[in-house]
Parts: sequence; C-alpha cells; structure tokens
Amino acid sequence: MIDDWFAPLRGLIDVAHIERTVRLLVVGCGRVGLSFIHIAIARGVRWLRVIEPDWTESRNYASGFPEAAVGSRKIDFLREHLLRYSSRISFEGASARLTASSVEPFLSWLSRSTHVALFLDSFEVASALARMAYRHCPCLYAAVFENGSTGEAAWSLGGQTPCLESTVRLSEKRGARGGQTALVDVLSTVNVSVRQFLGLALAGRRGFELFAPYVRPRFPLAVVVNRPGGFVEMGSPDVPSGVRLVEVVDGNGRGPTCPTCAGYSP
Ligand SMILES: [Zn+2]
Repeated sequence: MIDDWFAPLRGLIDVAHIERTVRLLVVGCGRVGLSFIHIAIARGVRWLRVIEPDWTESRNYASGFPEAAVGSRKIDFLREHLLRYSSRISFEGASARLTASSVEPFLSWLSRSTHVALFLDSFEVASALARMAYRHCPCLYAAVFENGSTGEAAWSLGGQTPCLESTVRLSEKRGARGGQTALVDVLSTVNVSVRQFLGLALAGRRGFELFAPYVRPRFPLAVVVNRPGGFVEMGSPDVPSGVRLVEVVDGNGRGPTCPTCAGYSP
C-alpha cells in the first residue's frame, strides 16, 4: 500500500540530500508517529529529535510497539531501536508532556530543526506548536481520529499555506464516516503525511518542481477515509480513492485572517 502511494515519486526522492540536510523534530510517537518515523528513516532522515511522554502498556496493543517494549517508556524503546538500526542516526528524545503553554524542549529544538511533524491527540497543543513552527520551517500534522475509521494530514509552509489552526478551522470536512479497520487508516494517514513530508523536505530546492504537484500548497489538508469511493475523486491519478484534499477558503473564496499566517492568500 505504501509502495503504491509512492509509485509516482520513485526515482525522484533524493535520499542523500535528505540525509545531509533534514533535521526532523517529531512530537508524538503513537501508531502514526512511529510509522512515520520508520518511513522517514528508511527515506534517509538521520537527525531526529522526538518528544513522547507515554509508556507502552499491555493494553496499548495497537500502539505499534512490539511486545518487548511493554513496560518501558516509548522514547527509551525508540532510542534503542534506532541506534540498533544505524549508529549514524543523531537521536535525542524527551519524555516531556507538552501543553499549549509548556513547550520545552520543543522550542529549544525547533531552532535547530528543518522540519516539524506533529502526531498529537490534542489538536489544541498541535496547533500551538504549529504556530511556533509556521515561520521557521515546514510543519506537518497527522492524526487518526478516535473512531479509528478516519484520519487527516495537514501541512504548512510559511507564506505558501495557511497555518494549521486556520487550515482546520476553515476546511469543511464532509463524508468522514464509514471505515473498516484502524490499521488501514493509520497506513493511509501515514502515506499522505510522508508524501507531503518528502515534498516539503525538498521545498525551494532545484528539482522541487517535480514534487510541487504532491505538496499542493492550495490543498493543505487531506482527509483520509478508509472506504473506497468515500470521496469524490479529484480527477488526479495520484490521489487515491478515500483521500480528499481540501482547499482552505471561506464561503467567499477568501483565505484566513489570522495573525500567524497573515500574508497568505489562496
Ligand atoms: Zn492562520
């Protein structure tokens, strides 16, 4: 499934460039975050800072962590796992529980990061962090909703897209019903987010025009529904059935008026 999503990008991904230049700050290492980290590493990312406060518990079977991780902090297990994978990975982890007003070490790490990825249950916290990241670097947010049948991925690129808060506030989410299993939704959501990430990783670089169709600044929100035909097709072969890209405008076709993303217009 992941490979199908990436088929149009095969041969375009510059792993060496990503390895050399991307410094990725991740908040949240649940099912979506963990899957995203695995794919990011596989696509060349070697500098990672991750913030995740939770422990792996046995009841948390669907966390994506293996049985061997039960009883340990997710961040400790991830650290060991990544260092076993490659000794060339620069990794620091923190088990802070971030809130909208308590943002360390996010803020300190942000200044050294080139990309931010947020996988948080709390949209309030995610949008607060995304606000800080907006002018600094590309920021991506992905979540699977509580019911496990839908997910969403949103991204911001300073000046080229609205901020996360405006994206979700102004976007109209229809048809978010149906679904089969949570697992499939996680993969779909991760697929959309990794793809945006790879595009954002090369934003502004020579050759970026090849990625531009996949980043789609005009459509900064993808709502993922795990139901074939769940959304009307966009008429674009690389957008699979069940994914709806959402343009962020108000009823009059205008963009947001918001202090964070002031200056952006659709
Ligand atoms: Zn905004």
